[in-house]
Amino acid sequence: MGVKIMKIKMKVPLVEMDGDEMTRILWKMIKDTLLLPYVDLKTEYYDLGIKERDNTDDQITKDAAEAIKKYGVGVKCATITPNADRVKEYNLKQMWKSPNGTIRSILDGTVFREPIIVNTIKPYVKTWKKPIVIARHAYGDIYKDVEYKAEGPGKAELVFTDNQGKEISRQCIQEFKGKGVIMAMHNLDKSIESFAKSCFSYALHKKIDLWFSSKDTISKTYDAEFREIFNEVYHKEYDGESYAEKFEKAGIAYFYTLIDDVVARIIKSEGGMLWACKNYDGDVMSDLVASAFGSLAMMTSVLVSPNGCYEYEASHGTVQKHYYKHLKGEKTSTNPMATIFAWTGALRKRGELDENSELVNFADKLETACIETIDKGIITKDLEILSEAPHKNVVNSEEWLHYTSNHLEELLAEK
Ligand code: NAP
Ligand code: MG
Repeated sequence: MGVKIMKIKMKVPLVEMDGDEMTRILWKMIKDTLLLPYVDLKTEYYDLGIKERDNTDDQITKDAAEAIKKYGVGVKCATITPNADRVKEYNLKQMWKSPNGTIRSILDGTVFREPIIVNTIKPYVKTWKKPIVIARHAYGDIYKDVEYKAEGPGKAELVFTDNQGKEISRQCIQEFKGKGVIMAMHNLDKSIESFAKSCFSYALHKKIDLWFSSKDTISKTYDAEFREIFNEVYHKEYDGESYAEKFEKAGIAYFYTLIDDVVARIIKSEGGMLWACKNYDGDVMSDLVASAFGSLAMMTSVLVSPNGCYEYEASHGTVQKHYYKHLKGEKTSTNPMATIFAWTGALRKRGELDENSELVNFADKLETACIETIDKGIITKDLEILSEAPHKNVVNSEEWLHYTSNHLEELLAEK
């Protein structure tokens, strides 16, 4: 195209976290093709690739999380969460924890997942027109439960003892006549409160309604606590103004209802809301919503801390199978959309915080370039069966990025 474009300057760095396998290859391609030619990219770079995590005894992951706290915005490439196979494959010192888990616990954040909507890919649910964003509480419930298998008759009790060792409560769970199973789980008011704050803040940031669901008709203490804390946080004043007042000004609504009621309403809705889910509900519902919108490769994810730090990433993993093909010298048709949208999300947020409208504008145009490229029928292989574009041209990742960069240049040249 040959249009000479002045590179956009950045004031404050982004925390850049590199990753593993195919997404690491895409990461570099995306930077080289779509970012570095246009933005004077300022990042503080952390290599969260498995080798570097192993070399640093995973200190690098903690450092990256601290950097996000310092600067407020980070962008992360997908990373390997090691299992036994990976320990062998990479000759690791130990089975390091999931980097996402580590970062989440340092930032005390909530994960929001949102599908990227394009015209030529129709959701399986005909009425859905706008994205459904899912917020999943990331602490406790069955993910930190205690379980027991009773091998024969006996009595199970739920006992609470205070710090002085005084028994405060004792309830019979079940008098077993034969074999059975027992589970105990917990949550913390503090964690639920952080979750609520993150959800209210994110709904305001996106200017969309917030729906929160649980099953408090059955769980009259446990789930009722979630409902009550959400209600308190909504009406409490922080710095002189409550979320309720802020919601009214923004023209958005908050409502609480039962999980089964929400499921029925979501299916009949046109989308466009934030659905806050308890840990297990969020695990299940985010995969349901992602699949119903089309493709895992089109799902973005952002971790928001209650004090307003943002970490953007793709929802999918490192696309291991494609990486092995890449290593054999094959060109792969891996979809870079969600990784690009992690970058645009982070650049836009940085732009908003630093009052850098050029950067916000660039992020908008890059997203438009990607969406319009897909709508023209230029797609990666995963979208072949999903796309309803009249003429489909299935290309490899490199070609797709090239087409998109050409279109981006056109958009940037427009006044
Ligand atoms: P995955 O990387 O998400 O890939 C699963 C399959 O989904 C791929 O084999 C591919 O299907 C398809 N796919 C996913 N992303 C795609 C894309 N961008 N373009 C085209 N197709 C895409 O999950 P995984 O294979 O279970 O996990 C691989 C590694 O990623 C694991 O080590 C896991 O620990 C890690 N992981 C990391 C994160 C994270 O960092 N947030 C999240 C999940 C998993 P086809 O092979 O059929 O084409
Ligand atoms: Mg899951």
